[in-house]
Amino acid sequence: MEKRILGRTGLSVTVIGFGGIPIIDKPNEEAIAVVQRALDVGINFIDTARAYERKNGPFLSSEEKIGEIMRQRRGEVVLATKTHTRSREGAAADIEKSLANLKTGYVDLLQLHAVDSLEALNQVLSPEGALAAVQAAQKAGQVRFIGITGHRPDVLLEALKTGLFDTVMVPVNIVDRFIYNPEASLLPYAQEHNIGVIVMKPLAGGALKENVPEALRYSMAQKVTTVIPGMGSLREVEEDVAIGESFQPLTQEEENLLAKQARALGSDFCRQCGYCKPCSVGIDIPFVFRLEGYFTRYGQKEWAKAQYAEVDIKASECIECGNCEPRCPYSLPIINKLKTAHARLMGLAV
Ligand code: SF4
Ligand code: SF4
Repeated sequence: MEKRILGRTGLSVTVIGFGGIPIIDKPNEEAIAVVQRALDVGINFIDTARAYERKNGPFLSSEEKIGEIMRQRRGEVVLATKTHTRSREGAAADIEKSLANLKTGYVDLLQLHAVDSLEALNQVLSPEGALAAVQAAQKAGQVRFIGITGHRPDVLLEALKTGLFDTVMVPVNIVDRFIYNPEASLLPYAQEHNIGVIVMKPLAGGALKENVPEALRYSMAQKVTTVIPGMGSLREVEEDVAIGESFQPLTQEEENLLAKQARALGSDFCRQCGYCKPCSVGIDIPFVFRLEGYFTRYGQKEWAKAQYAEVDIKASECIECGNCEPRCPYSLPIINKLKTAHARLMGLAV
């Protein structure tokens, strides 16, 4: 598979990398086999995060599962993780925990996770902010390079202008092109300043899952270094790698078709990132919206209703505490959207 240089880090990474979210909810052995397979078929970039875990869940965290493989295969991998903590003290503790989980003495890339507002950016950049801890870990040899991730190109552009970050991770897909459009501003800036670009959510959080080859080809053709679809099964690993190995940019006709589908989605839909979790009463918010997507977009009304009938904590149990909405990087009106989704999935609305 093609390799590209990750900006000023000089690291050479495969154009398709491994996104470590989906293995969170997979049984340990199954998840570890997925990561092994990704390396066996040539992927050399693995991305995970301290936050990729279910607290009190039955399985190891994403980092711990990857760590089981790093015991033997650390040298084959450019390894990236993230801290979501905004404070210096919290980030220092996160880095120690990540290294222990990943069973390694250093990571190649430590990223400040989901910095989605100027307020959050100012927090992490302040003297007692998370960046200071990451820089200290870099001096100590625990971190090679420093990156930032987020969903808002305007905030990320401000971050890059500080000159403090070697890489940036952002959603680049044809859906977000019509909403946030990192292609117009952030990506050219990153290229000009030799900052590596890592693409998250190439399938727009599953909205483009019926068009995986076209969606990945679209993302790979932009000014980016590596595209990291989440991989939760051996089949997904093999499909994504095959797309990377035979990469050709979309023809104009293919891109027009994909753009037409993207426009039909609008902007007011869940990207399945899971940042709204946990719900105060235990509603699985992204899952409810995923079922609603099957109901409204994929013509699977009866199947979606049957799946929802099995859900223990229905969306109607929302107490409107409001805890989830500020956590959504897409500013979705979750409370109202849950009401609509519930009505549809209960057969009370179309
Ligand atoms: S507002 Fe509703 S969905 Fe959101 S956290 Fe509170 S109870 Fe859960
Ligand atoms: S509601 Fe928002 S935060 Fe929650 S999964 Fe969807 S896009 Fe992500």
